[in-house]
Amino acid sequence: MKKTFYNLIIVSALIGLIFSFAGCTASSEKKESAQIFALDTVIDITAYGDKATEAVYSAKAEIYALEKLFSVTDTDSDIYRINASQDEFVKVSEDVYALTEKAVNLHTITEGNFDITLYNVLKLWGFTAKEYNVPSDEDLKAVLDKSGVDKVVLGSDNYICITKDCALDLGGIAKGYIADKASDAMKAAGAEYGIISLGGNIRTFGEKPDGENWIIGIRHPDANEPFITVITKECSVITSGAYQRNFEKDGTVYHHIINPETGKPSDSDAVSVTIIGKDGALCDALSTAVFVGGTEYAENLHSHIPDFEYIILDKDKNVYASEGLKGQIELTEKYQKTNIVYK
Ligand code: AMP
Ligand code: MG
Repeated sequence: MKKTFYNLIIVSALIGLIFSFAGCTASSEKKESAQIFALDTVIDITAYGDKATEAVYSAKAEIYALEKLFSVTDTDSDIYRINASQDEFVKVSEDVYALTEKAVNLHTITEGNFDITLYNVLKLWGFTAKEYNVPSDEDLKAVLDKSGVDKVVLGSDNYICITKDCALDLGGIAKGYIADKASDAMKAAGAEYGIISLGGNIRTFGEKPDGENWIIGIRHPDANEPFITVITKECSVITSGAYQRNFEKDGTVYHHIINPETGKPSDSDAVSVTIIGKDGALCDALSTAVFVGGTEYAENLHSHIPDFEYIILDKDKNVYASEGLKGQIELTEKYQKTNIVYK
């Protein structure tokens, strides 16, 4: 008989954004784990099954390969080449073309809150070089005028062109996409099931023994501990929060998620947004967009696109969650008094 126990398998290293607990691990079952640093993030990979070692190797290879395509700083990457070749078409990989196309479509779906053309805005704030600065409204306006997805031209045959002084940053969607691809690579290598954690992004895959669920803990923005857990099968659980990257100047905290209308860190009522669903790239983009838009926006978006569920912690420490999560989320012991409002 298989032994059942709760086993803390990931406490996301360094920043500990999401916590994951795996229920039911057979002691005889082969398990392989690895921790790597890529995509500016500590990444934990775990696979189970006879092919677990091969699977983890495949996931690592996939992550490194995709990082080389999506990096904004690696001079050989597709994104770097697009940004360096303004007003000229650049041939890119299928991955970069497909994700850029999806991101451009998501700009419309999110009513403009998700925008991959904010690289120069993020640069003004110093988020790209980690040399922080509060830009003037004039400088922001000048950069915003040259940004926008209407400056991205998707040609045929995987050619992309951006107009002068526009630059792409897929940082709000790439990790969700890469987690899906790494999971697919692990499945293809023969893993039975597993989990991958990229900072605030968790992706589980496969069927656990006896059909058991995964239990994913979501970090409280003010404490390195989970405030709520999500009980789920194969899916992505992706969190955006101001606490993930920010700086303080003259008593004000400026974070890395930008309202595309103002070019400034967004100021909605959300302090942490988690999106749960099958499509990691979609969940990742929506976590960013909902962080910009806030709770009412989430409710409205959800009524148009039912392919995701959400959990939002707002500034008053209330939890808003989509109704589909009823019975699937639980407050942790310390946060039992928190109010959950289902929408
Ligand atoms: P996430 O952690 O998924 O919310 O992504 C945040 C990252 O996405 C930032 O570090 C930026 O690279 C990028 N970003 C910031 N604001 C936006 C936005 N409004 N739309 C799309 N990407 C953004
Ligand atoms: Mg995102």
